Amino acid sequence: MASSLTLPKLPVFDAIAGHDPQSTAVVHCLTGRTFRYGGLLPDVCRVRDRIYAAARKSDIRGERVAFLVENSYDYVVTFLAILAARAIALPLSPPFPAPELQYILSQSGASLLLHTPRYAEKTKEVLSTPSPPPSPRQKPELKPPPTVLELPKHLGADPGSSYETVSLSDDAGDAEGAGLMLYTSGTTDRPKGVLLPESAVTAQCRSLIEAWKYTTADRLLHVLPLHHIHGTINALLTPLFAGSSIEFLFPFNADSVWRRLATPFLDSPHANGVNGTRGSANGTDIKHRTNGLLHHHAAPEQPESRVTADMPREKITFFTAVPTVYARLLSSHAQLQQSSPALAEAARTAVSPAHMRVSISGSAALPTPLGRAWRELSRGTVLLERYGMTEVGMALSCGLDPADRIDGSVGWPLPGVEARLVDLDTGEVIPEDTEADGDGAGGRERAGEIQLRGPTVFREYWNNPSATAREFVAADPSDSNQGRWFRTGDVAVRRRAPAGAGAGTGRSGPWASGGTVWFVLGRQSADIIKTGGEKVSALEVERELLSLPEVAEAAVLAVPSGKWGQKVGAVVVLSASQRDRGWRPMDMRRALRGRLASYKVPQVLRVVDRIERNAMGKINKKELVRKVFVDDFSGDEM
Ligand code: AMP
Repeated sequence: MASSLTLPKLPVFDAIAGHDPQSTAVVHCLTGRTFRYGGLLPDVCRVRDRIYAAARKSDIRGERVAFLVENSYDYVVTFLAILAARAIALPLSPPFPAPELQYILSQSGASLLLHTPRYAEKTKEVLSTPSPPPSPRQKPELKPPPTVLELPKHLGADPGSSYETVSLSDDAGDAEGAGLMLYTSGTTDRPKGVLLPESAVTAQCRSLIEAWKYTTADRLLHVLPLHHIHGTINALLTPLFAGSSIEFLFPFNADSVWRRLATPFLDSPHANGVNGTRGSANGTDIKHRTNGLLHHHAAPEQPESRVTADMPREKITFFTAVPTVYARLLSSHAQLQQSSPALAEAARTAVSPAHMRVSISGSAALPTPLGRAWRELSRGTVLLERYGMTEVGMALSCGLDPADRIDGSVGWPLPGVEARLVDLDTGEVIPEDTEADGDGAGGRERAGEIQLRGPTVFREYWNNPSATAREFVAADPSDSNQGRWFRTGDVAVRRRAPAGAGAGTGRSGPWASGGTVWFVLGRQSADIIKTGGEKVSALEVERELLSLPEVAEAAVLAVPSGKWGQKVGAVVVLSASQRDRGWRPMDMRRALRGRLASYKVPQVLRVVDRIERNAMGKINKKELVRKVFVDDFSGDEM
């Protein structure tokens, strides 16, 4: 067995060992429990040893170790302990139904399943669920279950003021076998296990540190699920690499997030709308006008005020989320303004450019009106949009410098990422000089599939060689770099960055330079609609629909049609002010006239009460089109 307080010298452990031991690594927002960097690696060693004990061996290199652990310090320790055992960490999402988790367990061939006491029942339920059949004709089978290890409630030992020393071994094969496995969201296919070797994970973290400049002074509010690349790499592992502090506030609740963000800027956390606000962060006092309303709004003490009183008072400097989180924050802020104006004002200060160093949006397209509304609310913060996926981590991003944040664009390839566009029809690599102007005018714009390569890209789909072979293409023989390209299945165009604003001049770093920027048009399989010989980007139409005052939410889909091949279909949720009046296809066409070419205007419309999304705010369009447009499938009535 490895000696108790020794870890392999993986880059992440090397980085953590170099951080100030007294600095904060993790905070539980609602209880205030705080864990410092000095205690982290000793805790990781102890859990790694428990894993070895459960496995009854000290070499589990490359084995898949699944875990069901709440978003907390315990998650961080468990995740790192699996890497320390040079195994593949497989985080499971607790709210997933048991058959889905059973599918992941059996598809991955997980040898161990770790869980905290909270998920003891869930674990039993999952293990007593038969594995789903690989195909509908086959019978379900019960595979040998993984060894189960129930972890104790709190994995953080209380070290007092001194920390044990952990030594890092210096073995050439240290990282061998270690990695992270995440399952794709399965919105276009059955979930696939994406194997990210430790080297890819490290390359992803380093790329983000270079681009977004995480520092030891950053405090990140973590509101995302931890079975997805966004929450795991961008919001957890990268800040740990950089020595930032991570504060967990999960599950996401817009009201709690506002209260947490506002707390450092309130005179007294009990004020909750009664007093003026004061910024205490970094020792500077900031006086705010509270828009005159507060005299009239002595809001009654609400139960949440207790929560606010206990919340940490360090300011949050880093926030990364999906567009639906920003949308929910915006609508919740409007209510807060009525009930607790001082708190609402403090919250605005908290997200302003002077205090929130970075606010990032991604994992789905950011609608222009949402970005604009956030800019108004925060008095100037332009959300930084980036594009990525489970298989590659983050691939394209706008820059930290405000000049490098371009509406509708996902910027430039991140450090270490090589990107190209490949014509969907001819397979030809689209030359860099065929871009149109920023508004898409210019006529030479060519859409193509985004293909990527570099050290951040995953190795394979687990136990699925045919899918792996399908999604990679070999380099051209004349290419000096023989690395294979990953086919993302996403379609994009490159356009010239808006002139005069200084975009792409390298202010955000050399990677964010060049006069052309990338715009994602959507997934080829779900968002590129082929109608009467034309190609329509669902994301472009959604963007326009969402900028109409009548529309609160929109999904644009390909509806099968005998006459057109596909028709552009729109599913919308109306805004509160429009709900009673309804909205007919005629109204939609009139509203979109002049905004979109006529072939892009949806031919069929359905108004619904809600559009279902997964934990990352994504819509399963295949399912939605079946549910909503079932009557239109023969579709020649238009
Ligand atoms: P996931 O693997 O669940 O993170 O999903 C990745 C997919 O989300 C990508 O293939 C894109 O289709 C989509 N996506 C991620 N970021 C963006 C973005 N900024 N704009 C548009 N689509 C995005």
